Amino acid sequence: GVLGSGDFARSLAVRLVCSGFRVVVGSRNPKRKASLFPAAAEVTFQAEAVKKADVIFVAIFREHYSTLCDLADVLVGKILVDVSNNTEVNHHKESNAEYLASLFPACTVVKGFNVISAWTLQSGARDGNKQVLICSNNQEAKRTVAEIAQVMGFTPVDMGCMSSACEIENIPLRLLPAWKIPIFLALGLFLCFFTYNLIRQVIHPYIREQKNKLYKIPIEVVNTTLPCVSYVMLSLVYLPGVLAACSQLYYGTKYRRFPDWLDQWLQHRKQIGLLSFFCAALHAVYSLCLPMRRSHRYLLIETAVKQAVEKKMTIWVEEEVWRMEIYISVGIIALGLLSLLAITSLPSIANSLNWREFSFIQ
Ligand code: NAP
Repeated sequence: GVLGSGDFARSLAVRLVCSGFRVVVGSRNPKRKASLFPAAAEVTFQAEAVKKADVIFVAIFREHYSTLCDLADVLVGKILVDVSNNTEVNHHKESNAEYLASLFPACTVVKGFNVISAWTLQSGARDGNKQVLICSNNQEAKRTVAEIAQVMGFTPVDMGCMSSACEIENIPLRLLPAWKIPIFLALGLFLCFFTYNLIRQVIHPYIREQKNKLYKIPIEVVNTTLPCVSYVMLSLVYLPGVLAACSQLYYGTKYRRFPDWLDQWLQHRKQIGLLSFFCAALHAVYSLCLPMRRSHRYLLIETAVKQAVEKKMTIWVEEEVWRMEIYISVGIIALGLLSLLAITSLPSIANSLNWREFSFIQ
């Protein structure tokens, strides 16, 4: 059973029908809403729908839960699945699921499916985000909902009892929590190296020779800054592992907890590594663009004119040619290896490797 006829209810009903379930939808206005649902789903009044189903997905907003109180009698003994989300983290004192349970003490409430969007439900098994976090104080009800999730093609994750509902409801509202520290780290490093390169390439020539090299800021200075950030970030991926090994050797045991700062650092290695890859990839693109700049063309023409005036036939320097060829070739190989590291750190790829293969690639 599904209560509500909004976006989520519609996608849920479609997915349930496609997964082989018989679906009954409860709406305040079934006649008007029936055409929005697949023909195989029965759309009826809320009370009728509740009578016909044992498991009921409450696909309406928390603010409207109290309007369901008229259904209390028919809801006795049913499993209610709370799929709701909030608009702010810890918006209410108690979670939506706990609030629903307090309104209907004769029902068993299970929190679940809120981390799945209506879009994901519709796009089906092709979508990558397939985990459904579930919690409830009733093991049997939790198992029933987990089985439904599994049949629908999702991976149910048991999050324990109802006190986890608040945490589950906060998940869709979080903005990249594991990325905060790595991003600030990358920005801090970028700022330091950018300032250093700005002084070297723009301010210093201006002070020494009164040459205006401000045009270098958008591409050249940024391009020399990016690999510095990338290298330092990459070393920051491997350094904590070395520190951890040293600490274990020093204390002669692996059963001693690492200090909190090292623990945090170890946990952020993947994000730091991916940011290192991001900077390296940007550096490759910036480098490819270097010869496209007008300043570069002017400098080339200037060199050619000087050469003509001096009546020089060739300026080919074999050593410099070789140096540049090798320099670029090594850069391409480095980027290729870094891409391999980045790709294998993605969960879907990492899951297909055993531990030995993963550490071999690392
Ligand atoms: P929606 O499109 O606004 O639909 C809400 C539905 O609630 C309405 O269609 C209405 O159906 C029903 N309803 C029942 N009593 C109501 C009342 N007193 N006032 C207004 N409407 C009432 O919202 P939604 O996007 O489907 O979201 C529904 C729930 O799913 C929410 O709790 C939301 O947090 C959760 N959710 C949504 C998504 C998503 O991607 N949309 C993802 C995860 C979780 P009738 O008029 O037929 O009664």
